[in-house]
Amino acid sequence: MWQVKLNMCRFFYERCSGGLSGLKAVMFGAPGAGKGTYACRLQKKLGIETIATGDIFRELMKQDSELGRKVRGFVEKGLLVPDNVVIEVLKHRLSKIPKERGFILDGFPRTLEQAKALEDLAKIDVILLLDVPDWLIVERLSSRRICPNCGTVYNIRFLKPKVEGVCDKCSGQLCQRPDDNPEVIQKRLEVYKEQSKPLLDYFEKKKVPFVVSKTTSLDQPPEPVVDRMIEELKKRGFA
Ligand code: ADP
Repeated sequence: MWQVKLNMCRFFYERCSGGLSGLKAVMFGAPGAGKGTYACRLQKKLGIETIATGDIFRELMKQDSELGRKVRGFVEKGLLVPDNVVIEVLKHRLSKIPKERGFILDGFPRTLEQAKALEDLAKIDVILLLDVPDWLIVERLSSRRICPNCGTVYNIRFLKPKVEGVCDKCSGQLCQRPDDNPEVIQKRLEVYKEQSKPLLDYFEKKKVPFVVSKTTSLDQPPEPVVDRMIEELKKRGFA
């Protein structure tokens, strides 16, 4: 019986996603470019998984384990978690996803070492690159709020929750990330540019196709952007 149900689910996702349910993608974009927002919507529309290493680490940090303590030592200082730890954590997360199921990686790879390790773990079909100007990122992150319980992202100006300060999904109290203030944002943008350049070059050299989504205004709602991304993926023959 469960096999029938599984096939029906697959059929449903194939129909809804136009065959994109096996898509394996890496999403790149500066902090605040909308990676979490778009990945979450793509996940629902395509029936694929989202793997955000930052979220995995925040979860691990809540646990009183050796790994949790180790990770906390880096994340709280704003440092990258060492490659060997990140790669192990990703390997473990990927092993839980059925082979035919697609995923979007958000926040991985962040180093060339990680990009090379990824090659042995999965064949990436496409890079989803979010191209957002700096001024817009600063504006957007300064008004970003997140739910500490379920990770849903809001914006008090453009993507408001139904009730002020309360998560629509789990009723958690929304909060601002301590690093979402203009000075720190500027620093994070610099770091992102430094880190992402060699990685984008690496994937370009490997001839992995890019789908670029440009954002040009602050009040651009996410849905049409995601729909255009899906259209573009279909046009490129990923469906
Ligand atoms: P941001 O939105 O600021 O880029 P993330 O939520 O992606 O933050 O990640 C939070 C923190 O988790 C990072 O500052 C870093 O310490 C750690 N981290 C996440 N992904 C990686 C990775 N691929 N390699 C090393 N450290 C990582």
